[in-house]
Amino acid sequence: MSLIVEVAIPIPLNKTFDYLCDDEVLVGVRVKVPFVRKKVIGIVLAIRDKSNFYKLKSVEEVLDKTPILDKLTLSLLFWSANYYHHPIGEVISTALPKNLRLGKKANIKKITGLPNQTKQSNFKLSDEQNIAITQILKSNYQYHAFLLHGVTGSGKTEVYLHTTQAMLNQKKQVLVLVPEIGLTPQMITRFESRLKTRVVTIHSQLNETKKLDAYLMAKNGEAGVVIGTRSAIFSPMPNLGLIIIDEEHDNSFKQQSNFRYCAKNLSFIRAKQANIPIVLGTATPSLELLKNVMDQKITRITLTKRTGNATLPKISLIDMRSNTDGALSKMLIEKTKQYLSAGKQVMLFINRRGYAPVYYCTQCSWKAQCDHCDSTMVYHRHINRLKCHHCGGEKMPEHTCPDCFRQSLKVLGYGTERLEETLSSYFADTPIIRIDRDTTRRKKAFTRHLEQINAGKSCIIIGTQMLAKGHDFSNLAMVGILDIDTGFLSLNFRATEYLAQLLIQVSGRAGRHKEKGEVVIQTRYPDHPIFNFILSSHYTQFANQLLKQRLSAMMPPFSHQALLCANAKNKQNAENFLHEAVVLLKNIQINSVEILGPVINTIEKKSDYYYFNLYLQSNNRVTLHQMLSTFNQHINILKLKNKVRWYLDIDPIE
Ligand code: ADP
Ligand code: ZN
Ligand code: ZN
Repeated sequence: MSLIVEVAIPIPLNKTFDYLCDDEVLVGVRVKVPFVRKKVIGIVLAIRDKSNFYKLKSVEEVLDKTPILDKLTLSLLFWSANYYHHPIGEVISTALPKNLRLGKKANIKKITGLPNQTKQSNFKLSDEQNIAITQILKSNYQYHAFLLHGVTGSGKTEVYLHTTQAMLNQKKQVLVLVPEIGLTPQMITRFESRLKTRVVTIHSQLNETKKLDAYLMAKNGEAGVVIGTRSAIFSPMPNLGLIIIDEEHDNSFKQQSNFRYCAKNLSFIRAKQANIPIVLGTATPSLELLKNVMDQKITRITLTKRTGNATLPKISLIDMRSNTDGALSKMLIEKTKQYLSAGKQVMLFINRRGYAPVYYCTQCSWKAQCDHCDSTMVYHRHINRLKCHHCGGEKMPEHTCPDCFRQSLKVLGYGTERLEETLSSYFADTPIIRIDRDTTRRKKAFTRHLEQINAGKSCIIIGTQMLAKGHDFSNLAMVGILDIDTGFLSLNFRATEYLAQLLIQVSGRAGRHKEKGEVVIQTRYPDHPIFNFILSSHYTQFANQLLKQRLSAMMPPFSHQALLCANAKNKQNAENFLHEAVVLLKNIQINSVEILGPVINTIEKKSDYYYFNLYLQSNNRVTLHQMLSTFNQHINILKLKNKVRWYLDIDPIE
């Protein structure tokens, strides 16, 4: 007699499907099944002897003898599907490496070697580091969440390494999650060279064969440590003993497309399910985490001092209100000169790639705009093209103004490329290393740039946010922060929190070894209260003040949000779909949930689609989620449903 198997299929529907199966089958294995007119790969979620449906089709092939997804991983995936109101088939598909999704064999191609002669550090741990390690290990291998709040360069990574080795000694595995740009060769080498185990990495740059190998080595326990970016949260690790999240405050732990999960939030769930400790490290804790510390759900451990003899850098402001000549103040140029002649490195931080962000007419009000987005186009000089940073669209720059026909077109503002040009006019003999997405597109280019910096020779480094975090350049003495003022103008209620974190992280690159470093911030808003705290390195006080503001406005983390976003080529359809949604939501009638909107997105149009947002907010997470579930069940009554693209974003950050 055949059995009935319930199968999750990667389609955007909140449904699973029953099939007949004659072969031996276990929960968690992959099966090839007929679906509509195609064959698709699904995962068996349950095995039964009855189904509520008639005329079931049969499983074509059982692809695995043993489960690809174990019970704990499956329960994390169910939890995620439920919490993010996302179809289980798509959730599972996000969690699997592509080769498994495609039905390829679950075999390891090449087992990476075990390290033979691990290195030990040549310094003694500080008292603070020792206390941190003891406290984490005292959690007795049970669930306990720790915030490792250590100033930049305080030796947090050293704490990770020691607690990880202690776990490995107990035959446990450790999962380390790092931000998208935090997984540098330096970070990987530090783990590989210090730990007596096989370390595998999981990130988007890896080719599919290596990704599958890493996944399978995690799954069969051969890898003691998995270091990866957000999707690594789904790596199956049967002996998981500890989860570490580095740079906890970083936004890249949240996926911003399709299945919009937050790997940091999921790591708490995973740690609870596995009953193991979790450590979240940062110099600039997110307000969410600080609130959890206040509520005594998370234990804070602090590292207040930089390691060795290093101290925190001196930070000062340059008032740019009186500065009329371009991106660089005289003072900053002067200081750069001094440090370079002392044989030091200087980093100038500007968070905008390209030559100039605006190409405009000096005679009328014309600006080069993207035809498909509501945004100006950025001039890229080396290719002489205008590029849209939202949709990737490109065009040749006009020679005459399309509005007034005069030859009066000019660029305005600075990007990394123009800054490089300006600097080379001042410092003709100094190497300038520009690191942005344009100069690191080619494979290994980023690594080569980092090697050049690490060689330690005096140079100027132009950095975007790719360099804001995690890097440890020993000869870097000064950081100049050029253009952060747009952060003050943002409409996102989290903008000041992000700005404070960015300023401290970037500043943290200076003077990490021996000599005291210096940080200079150029701004047109020198009186902004943020600087009172940043200049004196009082992040926590600043964060507490922000928390008070959030509390009085009942904003997150004191309330919970969900975003319903609709977008369509027809602007009216997108807006009206959300009006229909409001009617449905009001019918569900849950008093404690506030409905805000619909409002048009700050960037109205992207790639020809108009975006509208509807926010739901409540102090009570449970009622908010009940409302969303009911909404999801009835969404088919919305008439415009098939005329728009829409998604739900739980705990949105943008
Ligand atoms: P963080 O992760 O907090 O920014 P790191 O762990 O990268 O800091 O440490 C900064 C630097 O100090 C690294 O080069 C590291 O090797 C070194 N270091 C760490 N702990 C100590 C210590 N106890 N004594 C001396 N140097 C240390
Ligand atoms: Zn004109
Ligand atoms: Zn565009």
